Amino acid sequence: MIKIIYRRSKCIGCGSCVEASFRRWRMSGKDGKANLIDARNKNGYHQVELNEEEKESAYKAAAVCPEKIIVIQTKK
Ligand code: SF4
Repeated sequence: MIKIIYRRSKCIGCGSCVEASFRRWRMSGKDGKANLIDARNKNGYHQVELNEEEKESAYKAAAVCPEKIIVIQTKK
């Protein structure tokens, strides 16, 4: 199991995460920031747990984010 932790307030709306992982990321039409699909907001840190099959695209999104606000946590 892996977890994405996303600090949404720091997003600059570049859209790179959506290109890297369209299944999990979408740009918001409201404020122009990225939304992490199915995530829960815990004090500004949006978090979602994923299955192994989404691991590769999750790491891709984290790698392309210029703000480095997408963090991947691995859980046993
Ligand atoms: S790549 Fe990072 S800064 Fe760009 S839209 Fe996605 S979360 Fe925001």
